[in-house]
Amino acid sequence: MAKVQLVLNAGSSSLKFQVFVDDGADVPNRLYRGLFEGLGTDPHFKVKDHEGAVVGEERWPHDTAYGFEEALAYLSDWLAAHRGGHQLAAVGHRVVHGGPNYTHAVRLTPEIIAELDTLSPLAPLHQPRSLEPIRIIARRVPGLPQVAAFDTAFHRTQPEIAQAFAIPQSLTDAGVKRYGFHGLSYAYLATQFPHVDERLVHGKVVAAHLGSGASLGAYAASKSIATTMGFSALDGLVMGTRCGTIDAGVVFYLQRELGMSAPEAEHFLYTKCGLLGVSGISNDMRELREKAEAEPSAQRAIDLFVYRINREFGSLVAALGGIDALVFTAGIGENDAATRAEVIEAARWAGFELDPEANRSGATRITRGSGPQAYVIPTDEEWTIVREMRAVLAESRQDAGQI
Ligand code: ADP
Repeated sequence: MAKVQLVLNAGSSSLKFQVFVDDGADVPNRLYRGLFEGLGTDPHFKVKDHEGAVVGEERWPHDTAYGFEEALAYLSDWLAAHRGGHQLAAVGHRVVHGGPNYTHAVRLTPEIIAELDTLSPLAPLHQPRSLEPIRIIARRVPGLPQVAAFDTAFHRTQPEIAQAFAIPQSLTDAGVKRYGFHGLSYAYLATQFPHVDERLVHGKVVAAHLGSGASLGAYAASKSIATTMGFSALDGLVMGTRCGTIDAGVVFYLQRELGMSAPEAEHFLYTKCGLLGVSGISNDMRELREKAEAEPSAQRAIDLFVYRINREFGSLVAALGGIDALVFTAGIGENDAATRAEVIEAARWAGFELDPEANRSGATRITRGSGPQAYVIPTDEEWTIVREMRAVLAESRQDAGQI
């Protein structure tokens, strides 16, 4: 019976998934890609096959009790009905935090799940959500191999100084350091560098992951050397609803003068700021672009988004000691030609020259001239997860064969 592997990417109110043939091929062979959205409010399920045709869709009435448990039960039934005699061989998960020690994906055991839970104070809004589907599956199908791939792992190649805050060593040793996130996306992009331009593989590259969450990552010879997200996924760029880099003094002000508790301040900075907070209209770049002409606050949110990218870009170019290429990815980076054009125009100081026609037409390279070049590479975090899962499972099979 043919086997399949499932990859899950659990968000705050969504559960994305992909199903791959378990054939060990170097380029994973995808069968389905889909998601549950609106978990906890208005659940909606949609799945497409490998050609992009919608092969399943369902909506449920407003139901605050519909969460991961219900979604996974539904997905399990859907797969049983649709995978025509396939057998689920393993599940890979995106886990936000691997702490200082997890530099690679890991096969999950009850002990490791418990250890990952001890990292929850480092990412209280995200880590428990990451672990929830793992626990549900461990309970429903106890023998099924599960693997965690970490958003922090790719950044563990950074020099120690790039990961440090200027705080006493005892706090650094206790784990208060810059971890960086979006690592599964940055790792995927690095696998695509050889197919796009050989100079990316060995060069100084900054990638701009611009989605609901946004960050820049700096690569030297395809390894992470610095990134804009730090201790939490709150740092760095302006995001959909997150503030990005902010003076710690503002946090004290929120608490002291506005009377917010620590959890309230955290909730505020994660969910009420960024594009949404500045515009007062939306966290969605499409909507801001549509309204920018009529609504000055929408234009201001976009302007701040681009300004902060240029500032942070400059700091990563300094960390790299130069720049050969800039790569755009994720929802805004892949789809919003206007943002790409504005970022490249702002980066003229570094020698970039926009090719407006290439940028509008969906080309991979969107600059011209003899200076550094910019590219668009669509990301695929689930692809990284399935490849890392295969490596881990192959290793544990080998270990099992040793005496
Ligand atoms: P996540 O996976 O983190 O939820 P995405 O990578 O899907 O986020 O990015 C979401 C962002 O991408 C939103 O701001 C959305 O408006 C933007 N986006 C998606 N498609 C387009 C488009 N065609 N033009 C402009 N922005 C877009």
